Amino acid sequence: MRQLSVRSLNQANPSPPLRGAERARVRWGTQPSHGDAPRRLTCRAYGSVRCVRHHRGRPAAPVAGAVREPPYDAPRCPRCKPGNGHPRVCDRFQGHRGAVGHWLLRLRILASNRIAMDFRESPAERAFRLALRSWLRDNVPGPEPEDLDAWVAYGKRWQRRLYEAGWCGIAWPKEYGGRGATLIEQMIFEEEMARARAPMLINLAGLTMAGPILIAHGTEEQKRRYLRPILAAEEIWCQGFSEPQAGSDLAALRTQAVRAGDSFIVRGQKVWTSFARYADWCMLLARTDPAAPKHKGISFFLVNMHSPGVTVRPLKQMNGDDDFNEVFFDDVRVPAENLVGGLNEGWRIAVSTLLYERTILTFARQLQSRTALVETLRLAREWPDPGAPVARDAIVRQRLAQSWIESEAMKYTSYRYLTRLLRGEPPGPQSSLEKLFWSEMYQRLLEAAVAMLGPFGQLAKGEVRAPLLGRLQHWMLYSRGRTIAAGTSEIQRNTLAERVLGLPRGS
Ligand SMILES: Cc1cc2nc3c(=O)[nH]c(=O)nc-3n(C[C@H](O)[C@H](O)[C@H](O)COP(=O)(O)OP(=O)(O)OC[C@H]3O[C@@H](n4cnc5c(N)ncnc54)[C@H](O)[C@@H]3O)c2cc1C
Repeated sequence: MRQLSVRSLNQANPSPPLRGAERARVRWGTQPSHGDAPRRLTCRAYGSVRCVRHHRGRPAAPVAGAVREPPYDAPRCPRCKPGNGHPRVCDRFQGHRGAVGHWLLRLRILASNRIAMDFRESPAERAFRLALRSWLRDNVPGPEPEDLDAWVAYGKRWQRRLYEAGWCGIAWPKEYGGRGATLIEQMIFEEEMARARAPMLINLAGLTMAGPILIAHGTEEQKRRYLRPILAAEEIWCQGFSEPQAGSDLAALRTQAVRAGDSFIVRGQKVWTSFARYADWCMLLARTDPAAPKHKGISFFLVNMHSPGVTVRPLKQMNGDDDFNEVFFDDVRVPAENLVGGLNEGWRIAVSTLLYERTILTFARQLQSRTALVETLRLAREWPDPGAPVARDAIVRQRLAQSWIESEAMKYTSYRYLTRLLRGEPPGPQSSLEKLFWSEMYQRLLEAAVAMLGPFGQLAKGEVRAPLLGRLQHWMLYSRGRTIAAGTSEIQRNTLAERVLGLPRGS
């Protein structure tokens, strides 16, 4: 993919319907999105909009004293009461009313100007995709074991194989074992992994958080010491952020690290720590200055999980797995050289971790939800209810069609978001929209899938007659956590309300 931005496909022979300045305005790069943020509420392409009842037949002119209102930015007629439902007409393109007409017009203009998203890949990107596809064809291992211990061993072998072939941590710089892959290549990697149904990587916390953080904030010794074992899955990492009283309000964390000579002594408790019982290292946030404002007195440590004083207690989840854990730190000695990025710099580093979680990971996960959709559709065509496939059931069809619509919307939202990153723009609060929409959409899809199976949907992994070996039910139960991990849905909505819509903070 050369670029994901909007391009005119007929630059050599442009068609004439709009003048140059107008055409420039309808390009998505310069056209403000309606209702996106208060400061962007001006509809530049279509001018003002009039209430038809009070202004019929009058010359088209902006309504004096008009009030701008989202979502499609029509100035409200000062003679009408708010919400009276009068149809509106766009001054420039009279006869097209309301939001639908407005958007149809935009589409007509885009079509007449033959503007489209360009998804073509450059020769180098195509070669990258084909090389990976061919390697995956020969190397994706057999079915994943059901037992968690066996799955971890299987996952380590799989990641090691990827690493040895140069397909692990591809975004990392070459000097630290990566390929220096571009963002587009990372997307291709995720797409091909999903296409090949390749198992997920076991050392996800190391690859997507610890590694990138050390590359950005670590010392040269730390990079040399930790990065290669992360790639080769020789050392598994976990994320020790959340605490019993500090989840959404992470900065309220209480675990303390007190300086003692050339070490810190860590005391406190973490919770919901994924894979802690398999982890060799933990990214730990601890309070190092209790007197400072809560975001300012936190530091980021690398803690050896085999140190004396570390106790890991697994937590049983409702899907039967126990990859969550409580972790207790009882006077654990952590060498001062394991501090990352300076004393009391932990919050800044943690925020960069969470941003990463919400960008590439969300892209990868929307691909996973597509895999779930494909499996569900296949099952709907085959699963008898009774005698005929459930796909003939009107309700099932409605729900699956809705899931497909949402999945398509998610896909293009991801592309649009990645386009921002490609343009060098910061991730920004819109990533909350992606995370929120994806996690809730995924839950709806899996609920529909399990409901479609009727009583068989209740059969768990391991049951002889469980459809798809109970995978849909397992995913459905796990999907409940997707709207909690990496920021709950409520927190994402708060972020969108405040930082995208410009609403005041809640009391
Ligand atoms: C699958 C999964 C994996 C995880 N892995 C890890 C991990 O490896 N490491 C780690 O450190 N943590 C991990 N977590 C923990 C996760 O980060 C927290 O669960 C999350 O931050 C929410 O915190 P909490 O559970 O304490 O809920 P709380 O913050 O106590 O929230 C409880 C409820 O109150 C709502 N709420 C809270 N504040 C507000 C507000 N201001 N406005 C509106 N509503 C609000 C929340 O939305 C939620 O519904 C994981 C969680 C899950 C589900």
